[in-house]
Amino acid sequence: MIYLDNAATTKPFKEVLETFIEVNKNYYGNTASINSYGKTNAKLLEASRNQIADILKIKSNNIYFTSGATESNNIAILGVALHKKDFGKHIITSKIEHPSVLETFRSLENQGFKLDYIKILPNGKIDLEHLKKLLSKDTVLLSVMQVNNVFGAIQPISEIIEILKDYPKVHFHVDGVQGVIKDKINLDEIDSYSISAHKFHGLKGIGLLYIKSRRAIQNINFGGGQEDNLRNGTVNLPSIVAMAKAMRLYAEQIETIKNNHKNFKKYLVEELSKLEYVEINSPLADTYVDSIVNISLPKIKGEAIINALNDEGIMISTTSACSSKKFNVNEALNARGLDEDNIKGSIRISFSYFTNMQEIEKFVELFKEKYKQFKEVIESGI
Ligand code: PMP
Repeated sequence: MIYLDNAATTKPFKEVLETFIEVNKNYYGNTASINSYGKTNAKLLEASRNQIADILKIKSNNIYFTSGATESNNIAILGVALHKKDFGKHIITSKIEHPSVLETFRSLENQGFKLDYIKILPNGKIDLEHLKKLLSKDTVLLSVMQVNNVFGAIQPISEIIEILKDYPKVHFHVDGVQGVIKDKINLDEIDSYSISAHKFHGLKGIGLLYIKSRRAIQNINFGGGQEDNLRNGTVNLPSIVAMAKAMRLYAEQIETIKNNHKNFKKYLVEELSKLEYVEINSPLADTYVDSIVNISLPKIKGEAIINALNDEGIMISTTSACSSKKFNVNEALNARGLDEDNIKGSIRISFSYFTNMQEIEKFVELFKEKYKQFKEVIESGI
């Protein structure tokens, strides 16, 4: 099997699984209990928070553990809107955001907020000039992702920070799921940031929300007061300790990982560009991450390509796992201006620490074989 669907999720590191089992076995006490198990485990929790804070270069008390980026995005976006509703009702995002951001903004629109979407340029980045036009005295919240999960475009976060200096009332939230560690970002300059551990070889169902100022966000769930009352519920210590381990291992090897991905993407894009009908939606450019390659075969359904390759033991995705079941036409590619044929025929190939060059070569070889059949279909005009 060749697994090239790493933007959807990655295989956990062996050490991460070992840590998870070890903590479950020996540190199962509740971190909120005042008995000695509880106290020991609370220390372990804070040690993991400190370790993550060091890697992300932030203060540990600005980190709130959650069940993943979906929850972090919900807490941040809804929590800010609730806090700021009396100061302004205008909110801004873009249509290339993950559904956990987009749908949360849409729920706010249904509650009476005015929602605007920043235009997307053909290169996959948000249009900064349009953002400047949209911002007003009434704007209270802006959310833009660090790296797009469908085609890998890196968004201009530092430029946005500059623009926002004239709008101090705006809370700037960044979905960092596909960019964390890989792409540099100064978290001191943004207001909140979400990540999920399973995108860097940690476990599913665990993540965090970084918040610069706890007071900027009203809690949207209620319970025992864990995580400073922002994410109530018994803390998932085994997964948190395992996330800290995954992040450390990933961060230690990031230069090698990035270098490998650069080579994989170069080879893949150069080889696939030789095929007449292949459109490259993730060009070789430093404004894109190297870990995601999106391509299209117009007139062929993405699902047909996925299934043909799946039969050969290769696993890739159409657009993105989260939205592939939900929408007929991928919103992110649509917002970028791709035509319907290209969107329907798009696939995503994505790499991880475990990917190697032999796998990429095998992928190219098998893709070229399948392409012969697809080419016939395209040329017959069906
Ligand atoms: N944001 C982005 C950009 C993502 O790629 C994902 C995962 N596909 C999420 C948010 C949601 O993460 P999770 O499913 O772990 O909650």
